[in-house]
Amino acid sequence: MIPMVDLKIQYHQIKEEIDRGVLEALEKTQFILGPNVSAFENEAAACLGVKHAVAVASGTDALHLALAAAGIGEGDEVITSPFTFIATAEAIRYVGATPVFTDIDPRTFNIDPAGIEAAITPRTRAVLPVHLFGQPADMAPIEAICKKHGLLLIEDCAQSFGAATGPRMTGAIGAAGCFSFFPSKNLGCYGDGGMVTTNSEELAEQLKVLRNHGSKVRYHHSVIGYNSRLDEIQAVILRVKLKRIGAYSEGRRRVAHLYSELLQGSVVTPPYEDGKGVHVYHQYTVLTDRRDAIMAALTAAGIASAIYYPIPLHRQEVFAAAYQGVSLPVAEETAARCMSLPVFPEMTEAQVREVVAVIKSV
Ligand SMILES: *Cc1c(COP(=O)(O)O)cnc(C)c1O
Repeated sequence: MIPMVDLKIQYHQIKEEIDRGVLEALEKTQFILGPNVSAFENEAAACLGVKHAVAVASGTDALHLALAAAGIGEGDEVITSPFTFIATAEAIRYVGATPVFTDIDPRTFNIDPAGIEAAITPRTRAVLPVHLFGQPADMAPIEAICKKHGLLLIEDCAQSFGAATGPRMTGAIGAAGCFSFFPSKNLGCYGDGGMVTTNSEELAEQLKVLRNHGSKVRYHHSVIGYNSRLDEIQAVILRVKLKRIGAYSEGRRRVAHLYSELLQGSVVTPPYEDGKGVHVYHQYTVLTDRRDAIMAALTAAGIASAIYYPIPLHRQEVFAAAYQGVSLPVAEETAARCMSLPVFPEMTEAQVREVVAVIKSV
């Protein structure tokens, strides 16, 4: 049996430290916005090279609160990728804004900067690229477009903790970076969690107010806020894992590079690394015309596989009617031909070879 990600092996490697930290937090009984949350925020900010990190309840909330804190709302448009998890677009809708989808690059699967400028209207307020599967979006041209048109740049870093483009880590490039700590993410806790990073003191302050019922001073409420806090127990777990994030990313890259070497000349096209920074392989996603046959063979061999993502967002039932006239051929074709293979830091060479052997037998 080879799962997409093996959280149990990893837990057993760090069990002593996690268990001890969790038990200490239970004894302390300061469960909400306690000392581990602020320590984690400081450590994560230092690790990513940003001034502020504000922990929240999920990656979806990170996106939602970042957009709200930036003042994006009713009547505004936000340009984003159609080839991502639904939460990216949901958050835009939560603040009353409209997602405008532009097509992706066929090799990196990230938003194609070439299509962004044509989508800008007087209502456009922000561009929200997703660093999909752990590879940073093509940020230099996106930053230039945002600067030229006075648009905010907000990064969806849910899949890219530890990824970099040039010397900069994702989450340290735009006005805000939005992270998810869902258990299977590259840095995952044991429940839901998320974080917004920013170099703006003002934005950080606003985020802290929004995550805590619109309140800076207890029982004084300046705006309508939310209940969106990372809890102390999750912060303990994240602190233990953050210390090891470099090794985890290395492990994922080792697995991915072995796959790519062994899959040369097979029925699948290995993922493309643009070479501009560090890809942290949240997913190892290939393209193929034999998807059904390969997935059936893997299932028969006890090996997990998955399709991220089978339907681009403009074709999802929730958006289909509103985006009827929108055609994004690269995203559509990618959704029809992509599939993801197991990848996790602890995956062994033998396991990678086993997956490749099954694919080559198809
Ligand atoms: C996981 C994910 C999210 C949402 O994160 P949650 O913590 O599950 O709310 C948002 N965007 C992308 C690209 C994701 O992969």
